[in-house]
Amino acid sequence: MADGFIEELRSTLEEGSVLAGADIDARYHHDLAGSPVPKPRAVVRPKTTEDVSALLRLCHRAKVPVTTQGGMTGLVRGALPNASEIVLSMERMNAIEEVDVATGVAVAQAGAPLQKIQERVEQDGFMFPLDLGSRGSCTIGGNISTNAGGNRVIRYGMTRDMILGLEVVTADGTVLKGLRKYIKNNTGIDLKHLFIGSEGILGVVTRAALRIFPAPAEQQVALCALPSFSEVASFLKLARAKLGGELTAFEVMWNEYYRLTVERVKGVTGPLPTHHPFYVLLEASGGDAERIRADLEALLEMAMGEGQILDATISTSNASAAAIWRIRDSSVELGRSFPYAARIGFDVSLAIDRMEDYADQIASRIKKIDPEAFAIVFGHAGDGNLHIGVHHEHTPERREEFEKLVYGITGEFGGSISAEHGIGISKRPYLKMSRTAEEIETMRTLKRALDPHNILNPGRIIEV
Ligand SMILES: Cc1cc2nc3c(=O)[nH]c(=O)nc-3n(C[C@H](O)[C@H](O)[C@H](O)COP(=O)(O)OP(=O)(O)OC[C@H]3O[C@@H](n4cnc5c(N)ncnc54)[C@H](O)[C@@H]3O)c2cc1C
Repeated sequence: MADGFIEELRSTLEEGSVLAGADIDARYHHDLAGSPVPKPRAVVRPKTTEDVSALLRLCHRAKVPVTTQGGMTGLVRGALPNASEIVLSMERMNAIEEVDVATGVAVAQAGAPLQKIQERVEQDGFMFPLDLGSRGSCTIGGNISTNAGGNRVIRYGMTRDMILGLEVVTADGTVLKGLRKYIKNNTGIDLKHLFIGSEGILGVVTRAALRIFPAPAEQQVALCALPSFSEVASFLKLARAKLGGELTAFEVMWNEYYRLTVERVKGVTGPLPTHHPFYVLLEASGGDAERIRADLEALLEMAMGEGQILDATISTSNASAAAIWRIRDSSVELGRSFPYAARIGFDVSLAIDRMEDYADQIASRIKKIDPEAFAIVFGHAGDGNLHIGVHHEHTPERREEFEKLVYGITGEFGGSISAEHGIGISKRPYLKMSRTAEEIETMRTLKRALDPHNILNPGRIIEV
């Protein structure tokens, strides 16, 4: 049956922009987090901000819901459409429009993949410091909308800290031209922050001005084995004191994460034996290669002397640094190496001095639901962020009990239920565990003001 609204979209937008029926590829209704959903009503692939504006104007008028998609690497099912929604795919708005090294700014369209931006600015001797395991597929628009964290937050902050300006299209098609390139701009409410981390419910990000930094001449990576979590915390303190601004990553892996990744993920090799209780990946960067190496060696020597670390290896080349990073970046592959669907990923924030107790509580209390259940723990310890994979092969039907248990423990420890992945659909029932009723109502007020017909990513984060 002909769909009059789709025909209207076709007549408004350039030929080839609107896909429907058999032309909708599986990638528009699958994501990396789990099982696929039914096909959306249509997929629209704009090439310009004006196309996005025209699409939203029509959807706003007809009250048709829209799901914005970047690289589909989000882990909370936020970009998965339902059958009545139009997918707005940013895949054809993927240009890097400008790299201005004098000012330290790059301008990219929202559909540009993160790795493409990293590689482009590297050609000019610069770096864009945001870095995640999904770098090859995720887009800068998705990173902005989820306020992605990643591997270098300890030094450069979250995505929010790397954004100078944004161009955004709001639900009725209005274009907010805020693509400013300066850090300082105290001219009233800084609107860009409404759209960073709000998971596409307030507007569609179309272009971004990004902060870029001179690339460090040297990046060295060490992998260390530690005897206990209290030594992990002491080692972090020492690394901060000795390396200062040179410390660009401090990632912790509980034994199970390191051992199972080395054993099960193809292409990963572990430079250290797999029996140690904890492992830390530490990255140091700076302009002076000799100094970085000397500082890192001095740190490891001191930590070893104090019994904080038991064993360590430092990368000797870019390839060996990448091989160490591969261990930490293989969390999704590790999860998938288990031949069952009953696994739940948690991404929480809490104080570092409570992390060990928290992980122990989870490990023991999940066994009361299912004695065979187990947890794999790792994370960005330097940012107070842990990832926990709970595996419950024999009790797949008890998923909700596990979720409630882990989020409940997170509440007991004063943590946040999402450090970086966001709320989307998956975590919406638990949002109230981390935000007050008044805060959630204020989010609803903002949503109603900017999207009165609730067409943008409806049902993600909050219901209105
Ligand atoms: C292997 C792996 C490692 C990961 N590591 C990290 C990590 O270290 N830190 C971290 O924070 N996350 C991590 N993630 C999660 C994910 O990669 C990030 O959330 C990423 O920022 C999502 O980008 P995307 O382009 O894939 O967005 P999508 O998955 O396509 O979308 C995510 C959300 O943003 C919205 N959105 C997308 N583009 C736009 C736009 N232009 N305007 C408005 N809304 C938009 C979508 O509607 C959806 O709600 C990881 C994921 C994987 C698979």
